[in-house]
Amino acid sequence: MTSLFEYAPAPESRSLVDIRPSYGLFIDGEFDDGTGTPLKTVNPATEEVLSEVATGSTEDVDRAVRAARRAFTRVWGPMRPADRGKYLFRIARLLQERAREFAVLETLDNGKPIRESRDVDVPLAAAHFFYHAGWADKLEHAGLGPAPRPLGVAGQVIPWNFPLLMLAWKVAPALATGNTVVLKPAETTPLTALLFAEVCRQADLPPGVVNIVTGAGETGRAVISHPDVDKVAFTGSTEVGRSIARAVAGTAKKLTLELGGKAANIVFDDAPVDQAVEGIVRGIFFNQGHVCCAGSRLLVQESVHDEVVAALQRRIGTLRVGDPMDKNTDLGAINSHPQLERIRELVAAGDAEGAQRWQPEGELPARGYWFKPTVFTDVSPAHRIARDEVFGPVLSVMTFRTPDEAVAKANNTTYGLSAGIWSEKGSRILSTTAKLRAGVVWANTFNEFDPTSPFGGYKQSGYGREGGRQGLAAYLKGDA
Ligand code: NDP
Repeated sequence: MTSLFEYAPAPESRSLVDIRPSYGLFIDGEFDDGTGTPLKTVNPATEEVLSEVATGSTEDVDRAVRAARRAFTRVWGPMRPADRGKYLFRIARLLQERAREFAVLETLDNGKPIRESRDVDVPLAAAHFFYHAGWADKLEHAGLGPAPRPLGVAGQVIPWNFPLLMLAWKVAPALATGNTVVLKPAETTPLTALLFAEVCRQADLPPGVVNIVTGAGETGRAVISHPDVDKVAFTGSTEVGRSIARAVAGTAKKLTLELGGKAANIVFDDAPVDQAVEGIVRGIFFNQGHVCCAGSRLLVQESVHDEVVAALQRRIGTLRVGDPMDKNTDLGAINSHPQLERIRELVAAGDAEGAQRWQPEGELPARGYWFKPTVFTDVSPAHRIARDEVFGPVLSVMTFRTPDEAVAKANNTTYGLSAGIWSEKGSRILSTTAKLRAGVVWANTFNEFDPTSPFGGYKQSGYGREGGRQGLAAYLKGDA
């Protein structure tokens, strides 16, 4: 798309990665072909097939779980915690050393801008391993009992929006607490998980401690329902989360679910407008809006609505949408065609229900999956675009008059993952935060992540926390 300024192209080099024509499953420290029908993974910015990736069948998942159980019983469980920590440090350092390679591969497979994979996804993934490496030999000081013990084998299923980062959120705490892992990446973004498998080998991680079984939903189902899995961790849609909760109910498996969101980003009339606009943009257009905690509902105090919306539109007009490998790109490609269709359907519902749609001028690339940054005004809380998770670059703007009305509207959702508040008054921020039913509340910022800070939701956003001391509890016996 054209913008105020023309930039010279600044493409990151693709030659930093060596994508193989095909990849296998990573089980017991070895790659093998698996017995399912392989899947193709494509670059969503070009629709080019990047590679063919094995699909794990029920038998393959069973092999992976058996390998994880063996590794847990013989090696990883009995290992001195300080030694486990050394492996995690080693993995963290290798992620840093190979950061550019990971960033390029993530951008090619996922469609997100290289600026984000380079500056956010990969550094944060390494930070999760560093943070949890530090915990490995200090678990008795985590406030979770005098001698916390691992659960055993963790079955983990992750989505496509932050492929490497979600892997780190799942694998790092599991390993630090002495568990072993069978992880299923999303069907459309398996490549960085397979590069991570190579890092595990490079770090000399004992075979079977981490197993990566690629495939579609069926493979995920086999992982979570395997009888010898002790712990299930899932991030993804609320619908699949519900089906997993049903599958796990009545078993001894421990479960954490990190599901969808429909976060309110609340702008009070005393907020500095330019700063708030940056936060609104970051809240909804970061990672093309494929973010469970995206600030997808903008609640603006009525008296500043027109000013904020005008400033927001001006700012959006300067965003660069296009080649994710270009270092100047702000919005990359939508991850898959089905996701693009889902976004289109919800945007059409917004039009049909009478909201006012605004999109910037300009053309989108001819090939690949793209959607323009979109702002809906005149949105009513009953509209689908105000209730359903769009998981795309689509913002719904609503107004409020009083702080109580802001809180009521913010909480008027089936979700409860995150929220944002923009105000100059600390007292107003604190009093509003206390009334919001959201797991994470950002004040005068949005979409900040840190491994020391627990993340998770209320209501249909799931249960359990990831990160921080609280995140360790999900992988240990005897927590509350
Ligand atoms: P899913 O919930 O289907 O996918 C998440 C992960 O679960 C993927 O690895 C998926 O495999 C796997 N999976 C699918 N079905 C099952 C099952 N029955 N048992 C176990 N694992 C399963 O999300 P989608 O990719 O279909 O996205 C749909 C919508 O979900 C999005 O539009 C968005 O609204 C929401 N979403 C929310 C996320 C969040 O972080 N809150 C993340 C991703 C999506 P596979 O990739 O092969 O489908």
